[in-house]
Amino acid sequence: MEQLIATVTPYVVVLGGGAWVLYKLVAYPLRKCPRCRGGGNLPAGLLGRYRRCGRCGGTGEVRGMFGRRT
Ligand SMILES: [Zn+2]
Repeated sequence: MEQLIATVTPYVVVLGGGAWVLYKLVAYPLRKCPRCRGGGNLPAGLLGRYRRCGRCGGTGEVRGMFGRRT
């Protein structure tokens, strides 16, 4: 039984690491921020003023779902 565990464990680690990397690549590609629409700024409510978009941190891009790039 101990030998079985010792044999299987490296495969579990490798498969788990591979699945984790794939998950990161598929689930979290960058896409255009839907709040500021890529501009990085939002209207601040003051005349002609804009504030930095809090969702994307002003970069205009956020992490999307399911690999969509919009
Ligand atoms: Zn934004």
